[in-house]
Amino acid sequence: MSQQNFRSILTGSFSTPCDDNPTVAMIEAAYQHHDIDARYINCDVKAEGLKDAVAGARAMEWVGFNCSLPHKVKVIEHLDEVAESARIIGAVNCVSIRDGRLIGDNTDGKGFLASLKKVTDPSGKKVLLLGAGGAARAIAVELGLASAAHITVMNRDPKKAETIAALVRDNTSAKSDVQAWDGDASVPEDVDILINATSIGLGDSETMPPLKVETLRKGLIVADVIPNPPRTRLLREAEGKGCTALDGLGMLVNQGVICVEHWLGKTLDAGVMEKTLKDIFGAA
Ligand code: NDP
Repeated sequence: MSQQNFRSILTGSFSTPCDDNPTVAMIEAAYQHHDIDARYINCDVKAEGLKDAVAGARAMEWVGFNCSLPHKVKVIEHLDEVAESARIIGAVNCVSIRDGRLIGDNTDGKGFLASLKKVTDPSGKKVLLLGAGGAARAIAVELGLASAAHITVMNRDPKKAETIAALVRDNTSAKSDVQAWDGDASVPEDVDILINATSIGLGDSETMPPLKVETLRKGLIVADVIPNPPRTRLLREAEGKGCTALDGLGMLVNQGVICVEHWLGKTLDAGVMEKTLKDIFGAA
């Protein structure tokens, strides 16, 4: 009887469109680096196919999968269990399959937090969060759960900002309010961490959120969620003012590391994953 095993562990992603999603390259580079016999399959799943895709992953004994746009909210109705922060956020980007049970989590905000914790502990800190979409919502909830003192949400559409501030107030110990974003925003002196969680700067190294650059000061931590290009104009301006800059690559890599920890119980080498993305983005 052969001792060889020709069956790989299966993981992957369901989204649409998916052609330009580089997660498969990032994760498979790390699987190969660690000699893990696992595959990550990038699947184009339309909204009407999500239920069947989830059932297929369970039937084929995948150990887990990511959900990206447009499935992060809708996938919840197909799951058996949802982790606390994902329930509060109302979105799941990482599903684990254990003994046929589907368990959802949200690793976007956790990936951000892992990046942030390399430079500071958010506990007791004051945060100015720009944007009120899915990324901002995940980050705000995780910061609140990590005992940030105060989160001000600033968004072009103030109603979306208020929804996130209320979510933080109702579910975490953090205080949270909303500030109108009219013209160039000022960063108040008592803010410890400024986060761009808008899509401004994606694929465009010269655009930055409307901000008074002179209010960026030494000691401020400035984080950007934009993974490509990683060195956004906001981060370059912030570094020029003596701020500590954190790019969106760290968030992207760390959320992937956390997903694979859920699926395989193994911690992948973040450096291998970051280098793969930098090569792809031409940012090495
Ligand atoms: P959403 O579409 O849900 O939200 C986009 C946000 O950007 C909204 O708050 C929107 O404001 C704001 N915005 C867009 N254009 C402008 C503008 N010109 N001026 C002011 N505000 C603007 O997107 P997501 O939250 O899902 O994603 C946001 C970014 O985060 C994307 O670029 C994505 O690539 C990145 N991301 C990075 C991750 C990582 O791991 N690094 C993970 C997830 C996302 P309004 O509500 O007023 O329209």
